[in-house]
Parts: sequence; C-alpha cells; structure tokens
Amino acid sequence: MSFSQFKLHTQIEKGIEALGYTAPTPIQLQSMPAILQGKDVMGLAQTGTGKTAAFALPILQRLMDGPRRHIRALVVAPTRELAEQIHEAIGGLGRATKLRSVTIYGGVNKNPQIRSLRQGVEIAVACPGRLLDLADQGEIDLSHVEVLVLDEADRMFDMGFLPDIRKIIKKLPVKRQTLLFSATMPEDIRKLSGEVLKDPVTIRVGTGTPVSTVSHALYPVEPHLKTALLMKLIERTDTGSVLVFARTKHRTTRVAEQMKRAGFPVASLQGNLSQNRRQDALSGFREGKYQILVATDIAARGIDVSGISHVINYDMPDTVDAYTHRIGRTGRAAKTGDAFTFVTPQDRAFVGDIEHVLGERIERRTLTGFDYNVPAPSGSSDAADRPRNSVGQRRAPRVSGYAPVKRGNSSSHGAARPSGRRSGGRSLEGFSQYQGASKAR
Ligand code: AMP
Repeated sequence: MSFSQFKLHTQIEKGIEALGYTAPTPIQLQSMPAILQGKDVMGLAQTGTGKTAAFALPILQRLMDGPRRHIRALVVAPTRELAEQIHEAIGGLGRATKLRSVTIYGGVNKNPQIRSLRQGVEIAVACPGRLLDLADQGEIDLSHVEVLVLDEADRMFDMGFLPDIRKIIKKLPVKRQTLLFSATMPEDIRKLSGEVLKDPVTIRVGTGTPVSTVSHALYPVEPHLKTALLMKLIERTDTGSVLVFARTKHRTTRVAEQMKRAGFPVASLQGNLSQNRRQDALSGFREGKYQILVATDIAARGIDVSGISHVINYDMPDTVDAYTHRIGRTGRAAKTGDAFTFVTPQDRAFVGDIEHVLGERIERRTLTGFDYNVPAPSGSSDAADRPRNSVGQRRAPRVSGYAPVKRGNSSSHGAARPSGRRSGGRSLEGFSQYQGASKAR
C-alpha cells in the first residue's frame, strides 16, 4: 500500500516523501478515504499511530483548491506542545503547498499571533482558551472554517475544556466537516460526538492498549531507591533517548538535578520553566544533546521524538489512560521501544488495573546487582509517595467507557490543567513561545 492511492496533489506528495513516509499507517489507510470524501470521522486512536497525518493530509488536499488567507481549517488541541507538534507536522507535509498554519495558545504574548492572523493563514492549530480570547476580541474570524478537528478530545475533557469547545463550535459555520480524535470514549465525549458529528464514519485503531511495538516491564522498588535504580537501569541498559516521567514539578526537577550531579546528560521539562529553558530542554532532547528528559505528564501528549527508545515511569501515572499515553511516546509509528515502570508497594492495586485493561500480566523485573536493601534515610520525603484520596486509596483508573475520574490535586496535573480558567483567571495552556505563522514549509 502506498500513498499514491489517495491521489494527493504532487506538492503534498513531495512533503510525504520529504518526511520519509513510504506507506500509510493503519489509521491513515482507514480514515483518509472518508476524510478525503468530506465525511465526518470519529477516530479512536491513540498517539503514535500516525493520526496527525491522517487528518493533515486530507486537509492540505482540500485547501489546495479555493481561497487563501482565510482560516479554512481549525484544529483544536489540549496543550501547546501538541498544538506545536501538529503545526510542525502540517508544516512538514505541506512544505511545498504554500499553505500557512498558525499556532494559537495562551501563556505567551498574543500580539505575534494577532499579526500572523492579520496577514492571513489557512490553518489554525489552537488551544481553546486563547482561541476564544482572540475570537471574542474579533481578532480571529472563524466564519470560513470548512474543517474542524478536535484532537485528543478525551484529554480536553479531562482538562475541563468541554465548555470552551462548545463555545468554539457555536462560532463555526454549521456546514462543515468535523473530525474528532480520542484515545478513549468516556461518556461525555460520546455525548459531544453525538452533538457535533453528522453521520460519522468510526475508525478504531489500537484503542485502549499501548502501541503493540512497546514491551513493558515493572520494576518493584521502595520509594527512596527510585533515583538510584533509575541511574543504574540507564547505565546498564542499551538506551537511546530516554523519557522519564515523574509525578510533580518538584520531583521532576529533583530527579533531573540528582542525575545531572551524577554526570548524566539530562534535562527536565515542567510547567514552571522559563520559555528559554523549555525550548532548550525540548530541542536539546530532540537533537541528542540531552539523552534523558525528565518530565511531568504535560509532556506526555506533546513530545514527539521519534528516537525515544525507553519511557521510564519513575512514578506510576494516575490513570490507565495516562499510562497508555506516556507509553505511546515510545514505539511511535512502528519503531520498537521499551517501557519500564517503577512500582512501589502502594502501587500494587493499580498495577492490577493496568494489567486488566491490557489483558495481560506485565513482567516484573529486578536489576541484578542493585542493592534493594538500602534502608530509607530518616525523614525521607519519598515516604508519601503517591497522592491518596481521603480514605487513603489510590484514585480509580479511568478506562474506555468508564465514567471519568476527576484528577486529584497532584501538582503535576496542576501544570497541565487550565486551572486559571476554571477559577475565572486566564488560560494557562501553551507554555512554549509562539513560533509565528509558518509557511507550510
Ligand atoms: P502521530 O500519531 O500523529 O503523533 O504520529 C506519530 C509519529 O509517526 C510521528 O513521528 C510521525 O511523523 C510518524 N508517522 C506518521 N505517519 C507515518 C507514516 N505513514 N510512516 C512513517 N511514520 C509516520
């Protein structure tokens, strides 16, 4: 199977070739014919499956004909990282088309975004908060939108964006094509899709379980030994780029600092960093200057480093979905990757939940030669290793079709969630600096 079957414009084919895609992925094969025909599509697909190109290519194809300098395609995404990633993918695929895309998200100066909008673009990739701000200020005209993409809809719901999404949809022409992508289908997303999709074609790719090219292993360990185990594991394993997830901003910084002191090429990524440091961490990781990136969950949806060989969950994620998405960072588009998860005695019940969803037992491993018997130093802050609910139990996992569990007060999620909007403040989405409108290169 090749991309030629889609009969895309030659300029678009050039972009596909330049990115080195030789054959469509399953989601591309399944969804592109319907999207190219202008049908509404509900894509149940997780990250790493190639879903961005699955909607970006038909959008570029549509926009090749018709007027320019109006926003004709709107992609709404939960985080600025994901928005940037989509924008970059569109830029790569559309490099020869002269179509322009712009990213719109909060937390950065809005003037460059306004300038780009005034110059005229055909595609906007936006997070909901800033998009609504600019629309309310009359700076963004959504009246020409022909295609709406809601990407990672379940994540947007988790982050409290559903009311904003409904407001955005009210501003769009009723006659349009709508594509909704979600890794899971909680009740509220099912309801939303019932409202916004007309007679949709449903495509399901690898939903609910991590991409099959990833092999999983659990490393049981006491909380106070996690950092030592992490360093030993990386030393002993033949790794390429390693993405390490920690639960809070503080833990992220602390683990990265400890590793740095021990001589590891490491950077950290969390919501409190200055723009320059975020950019340095991300580009340094992508380019191999930092072999290891320690990040909070906010990075889970946004980072696309095709060379990630290992994801290590230093802390267990809060939900089965979060596990799946973190793991989706490795094994992207059929490259193989390993996913290691540190489990403390408190994590045991949750491991059972994950195994239940995966439908298989995950291998337990111990690192030979590692001293698991070192006692905890007195007053170790790792004692309170996980956030608990009021009765001391781990929060229940959220899986496809279950009622979503509201996230707790873990500060790593505070970074990812638009809490500012909830409390009537400004949106916090989109930490990285606005990159400006780019010609789809
Ligand atoms: P996504 O699921 O859209 O985040 O894509 C995951 C990764 O797969 C990205 O690095 C894409 O560049 C890559 N990718 C998408 N489509 C293809 C394809 N047909 N062949 C090879 N890589 C692809």
